[in-house]
Amino acid sequence: MVTPYKHEPFTDFTIEDNRKALEAELKKAEENFGKEYPLIIGGERITTEEKIVSYNPANKSEVIGYVSKANQDLAEKAMKVADETFEWWRKTNPEMRADILFRAAAIVRRRKHEFTAHLVKEGGKPWKEADADTAEAIDFMEYYGRQMLDMKNGVEVNSREVENNRLHYIPLGVGITISPWNFLFAIMAGTTVAPMVAGNTVLLKPASTTPIIAYKLMEVLEEAGIPAGVVNFVPGSGSEVGDYLVDHPRTRFINFTGSREVGTRIYERAAVVQPGQKWLKRSIIEMGGKDTIIVDDNSDLELAADAITYSAFGFSGQKCSACSRVVAHEEIYDDLLARVVEKTKEVNVQDPTRHDTYMGPVIDEAAYNKILDYIEVGKQEGKLMVGGTGDNSQGWFVHPTVFADLAPDSRIMQEEIFGPVVGFTKAKDFDEAIEIANNTEYGLTGAVITNNREHIEQAREDFHVGNLYFNRGCTAAIVGYHPFGGFNMSGTDSKAGGPDYLSHLMQPKTTSEML
Ligand code: GLU
Repeated sequence: MVTPYKHEPFTDFTIEDNRKALEAELKKAEENFGKEYPLIIGGERITTEEKIVSYNPANKSEVIGYVSKANQDLAEKAMKVADETFEWWRKTNPEMRADILFRAAAIVRRRKHEFTAHLVKEGGKPWKEADADTAEAIDFMEYYGRQMLDMKNGVEVNSREVENNRLHYIPLGVGITISPWNFLFAIMAGTTVAPMVAGNTVLLKPASTTPIIAYKLMEVLEEAGIPAGVVNFVPGSGSEVGDYLVDHPRTRFINFTGSREVGTRIYERAAVVQPGQKWLKRSIIEMGGKDTIIVDDNSDLELAADAITYSAFGFSGQKCSACSRVVAHEEIYDDLLARVVEKTKEVNVQDPTRHDTYMGPVIDEAAYNKILDYIEVGKQEGKLMVGGTGDNSQGWFVHPTVFADLAPDSRIMQEEIFGPVVGFTKAKDFDEAIEIANNTEYGLTGAVITNNREHIEQAREDFHVGNLYFNRGCTAAIVGYHPFGGFNMSGTDSKAGGPDYLSHLMQPKTTSEML
């Protein structure tokens, strides 16, 4: 019997020993800068001429490492290996597959600060955010391992006296995992190990800005005893390798988390039945958000201001769950805005290697330019209260920015910026607040700060988002506690870290024997 699931606790960095442990790992991470990392196909290390260069977003001159880049020939080779491996992997014992994950989780837990230090450097994450990312990666392994054990015997169906009926789940085939850079460890690991534990084989194509953490996961899985060919590491460009694999007739499913632009592109391409293809591909597509915190007149404004500040600026607003819109009741609007502006002024922006950093950089130059362009739009559409500038002399730093008095249909209130920018708008009552909150093409997270029980119930019914929170912020979902996924243009709502996640990665089969 495995122990019941519980989430991995976060590290308390006010304790000196913990601080020292991470500082030591940060130094070690620096010693490893500039190394080369190969592809892994069928267990074989393959080095290519062309490389993906992973930079430290807080310090542009620091190269974290050079990762070999797959081309279409190597993608094809990986597909063949994964396809062949599936033929026997699909029949393996679910317990054995779950055990690989429990062991992998234990390995990461033992070396937790090493991974966290890597995330600080490769992802530009402040300590707290990096530690949470590592914890979530552990959680996904522990949780999906247990989910597989729960599902291994299928579910009960009725039988008549003359028959014996069963329904059980079988794996799908070869899956392509295309993972994001923002939860470079957690989401990358979750979307790789879930299909694996379900009995599929996987081609892992991590985000090109953060490929090295994916190599480190491969090492952990190998140490935990995963056979060669089950998970293959094929970093490469989206247009060359990503499209090729999405289009491939042997691809059975795609597990993607990332931008709306890429997500809809993958969804469309995957829907085309290619010559020789025998199935309809499954697409699990998790995209962006335009997430709102509603603040009611009858509410704790200090709690609201804290929730907004952290949800908007934690990891520089680069979470699809981040708060980018505040809808405040007109009675408390000015008071709330003043509190958020004050708290925003206290947010320090600096190299996340330092333990007291609230906000580090954004991921790269393209993100930096896009966010600053949106800030210019915001200056036209609303009133700049604080922030509004960037500093790219060392790394890609953008100051936390608050805009007030925006129209609900303004671009700042409608388009995903994926940076530390939050817009405020006023509502005359709670009905109007809900209407404004729903006035978006997305539907990922939302929060309501209120002491009004009726309004909680109203929001529960009418606030149309996949993850709705009351009297707290709208980020920081925990595996197994807050299954995560959104409505509408936020994606297919697969609910990562939820009890039915693995069912998306398997197919139910009914058998009926006449007695
Ligand atoms: N699960 C994360 C949270 O609740 C967000 C995931 C994402 O940004 O893709 O904050």
